[in-house]
Amino acid sequence: MAEVYERVCVTCGSTGESVRFEQCTICNHLYCLDCAYKAGHGRRFCSPECARAYYFAGETDDDEDTELDDD
Ligand SMILES: [Zn+2]
Ligand SMILES: [Zn+2]
Repeated sequence: MAEVYERVCVTCGSTGESVRFEQCTICNHLYCLDCAYKAGHGRRFCSPECARAYYFAGETDDDEDTELDDD
């Protein structure tokens, strides 16, 4: 199941066999662990922007009060 993906860090451009990459769950770019943005709870992203996007997407407060306007 080896997905052939270019192993280049999206942040620093680092490549190589010895570099450990992770894939950003937001933008699917690869980033090396040196560049990982640690967002807490063990979550890592390629950038603070992606971390923000993750938390915005995950915490939608859909607490809409559907009031029936009975007139
Ligand atoms: Zn990097
Ligand atoms: Zn990202």
